[in-house]
Amino acid sequence: MTDWQNWKREANFVGGAWIKADSGKTIDVTNPATGEVIGTVPASGEAETMRAIDAAAAAFPDFAAMDLMSRVGLLWKLHDALMDNQAALAELLTIEMGKPLAEAKGEIAIGAQYVRWFAEEARRAKGEIVPAGVNGRRILVTKHPVGVVGMITPWNFPSSMLARKIAPALAVGCPVVAKPATATPFSGLAWAALAEEVGYPSGVVNVLTGSARAIAGAIMERPEVRKVTFTGSTEVGKELIRQSADTVKKVSMELGGNAPFLVFEDADLDAAAEGAIVSKYRNSGQTCVCANRFYVQASVHDAFVEKLVEKTRELKVGDGREEGVAQGPLIDLDAVAKVEELLDDAKGKGAQVALGGSRHQLGGTFFQPTVMTGATQDMDFAREEIFGPVAPVFTFETEQEAIAMANDTVFGLASYAYTRDLGRTMRVMEGLQYGQVGINAGVITTEVAPFGGVKDSGMGREGSKYGLDDYLNVKYIAMGGI
Ligand code: NAP
Repeated sequence: MTDWQNWKREANFVGGAWIKADSGKTIDVTNPATGEVIGTVPASGEAETMRAIDAAAAAFPDFAAMDLMSRVGLLWKLHDALMDNQAALAELLTIEMGKPLAEAKGEIAIGAQYVRWFAEEARRAKGEIVPAGVNGRRILVTKHPVGVVGMITPWNFPSSMLARKIAPALAVGCPVVAKPATATPFSGLAWAALAEEVGYPSGVVNVLTGSARAIAGAIMERPEVRKVTFTGSTEVGKELIRQSADTVKKVSMELGGNAPFLVFEDADLDAAAEGAIVSKYRNSGQTCVCANRFYVQASVHDAFVEKLVEKTRELKVGDGREEGVAQGPLIDLDAVAKVEELLDDAKGKGAQVALGGSRHQLGGTFFQPTVMTGATQDMDFAREEIFGPVAPVFTFETEQEAIAMANDTVFGLASYAYTRDLGRTMRVMEGLQYGQVGINAGVITTEVAPFGGVKDSGMGREGSKYGLDDYLNVKYIAMGGI
């Protein structure tokens, strides 16, 4: 057992102080594996958020003017604090969210990698001197922090979704007002505790829990908040984009996905099945980049399904803290009901259950890892995110048909294809209308690459050099009379 309780902060962090909600009200936080209440967090709202924005706005000038290497040094310390406490932070994450401990440790580690990456990228936030068309002129392009950044994050990666936002913001001198998901607030509040521990100035990092509408409402309304970065559902993302119009904020939106996973007849089927398992069942299927639709060429359909079923059967379901567990519970009963609805719809339209298909004998929100065959484009899961451990297998005959089916969605976040043919790789990679393509790779997230989507999956990129640009304004200076 670790000292995870040390990181469980039952208060909000505003202007450098740990506070309760003005109303005194709290929200229970439960462990989805056991249903047990593990603590409470403040039910904060508009007033507390307004104070957090005031504190952030007041902290901005000095933080933006801090020596670059002092800001970088703080990020190094933040990275080390995350890794020094990796086991405890991971256990806290598993207890509030349910994912297996190994995945939770991985999430803390990738979060630390984002922090380290942006500490490095901050030193490369270079401007330009552009050749002017006439003598006696100089053209300079410089980059500047956007200002206070509002952040709203989901429950499925309660720590690393904040890492990708907090790290670039702090790297360039932007104060943060963050609202983690209500289901998993402790991993978000832990970022405030870490920031406090490593010595960020008061007001630079603020984290609030409570009513999403009230907190987000204040963030969206205040002109001092110059950027909003959101990860979550497309529905809420669209609402925030609309709300951002009044104060013309810069927005980054990491929204829903509906990832296709293409398996061609020339693929290494063992590698494809291996990739399918990690892509589909990681986090119990609750990731935005999870394979949502498996398109398999007819000639290898049966062989691939056999391998997929065999590997899926091996996944041990249970409490994420137990040794060897590969799949934890779903986040709540609504998530289970949604998976059941999608399965009922598919079965009603002719799909067959090749494995699983119902609630797990452990009860609660545990669900059996499931493989469905005979999936078709008219089934609901062809259009909607499943967000659960269900792998629907569709068949196709030609490459063009596969690409067309893969693109037949409003989403455009992640996509995957397994093939060993070079020409096909290029055609498929170019044909897929997605922000990210994994070729012979089932897990593609890394801090060095731009993570993000097109179409209804959002705008903006996290990680890579592009992930820093999203927190910077570009200024052009024309110097005459030289
Ligand atoms: P969600 O319902 O949109 O919630 C995300 C966050 O928004 C939470 O903090 C939530 O607060 C808050 N929120 C809810 N209603 C709001 C409103 N009206 N105004 C402002 N904020 C509001 O999404 P979710 O169910 O937590 O997460 C799953 C979704 O996130 C999936 O669609 C998934 O694909 C997407 N996701 C995308 C990425 C990506 O990088 N593209 C990564 C992970 C997840 P409460 O918790 O208090 O409701």
